[in-house]
Amino acid sequence: MLNFTISELVKSDTAAKSGLNNTPDINSLDNLLDLIYYVLQPLRDKLGKPMVITSGFRSPAVNKFVGGVSNSQHLYGQACDFVVNGMTPKQVVEFVKNSDIEFDQCLNEYNQWTHISYNKGHNRKQALTIT
Ligand SMILES: [Zn+2]
Repeated sequence: MLNFTISELVKSDTAAKSGLNNTPDINSLDNLLDLIYYVLQPLRDKLGKPMVITSGFRSPAVNKFVGGVSNSQHLYGQACDFVVNGMTPKQVVEFVKNSDIEFDQCLNEYNQWTHISYNKGHNRKQALTIT
């Protein structure tokens, strides 16, 4: 069973409030499916806890609006941010690092949320803390 939908990875409160378009192109959609299939769902199954997606795909306009870096993997549907109830981002990053999940980057961002990305064939398995 899948716990994630494309729509929750595309939904953007920022886009809704500011009237910005946040429609992914076909390559980004493909990457979002990979992100769900190879990272998010395996992680959800291993954690046994709900993961709340706070930011997934971002169009260039939305990414700029939220102050995302210009080469952000969110722009390509390769990354998402999420929180896990009852776990700190630090604990989540440790969990991911010690699992067999293939990922590109897993970041504890400001002790607020976890960023995770998947880049088919180019996964670096980098676990970092951003302060
Ligand atoms: Zn992120």
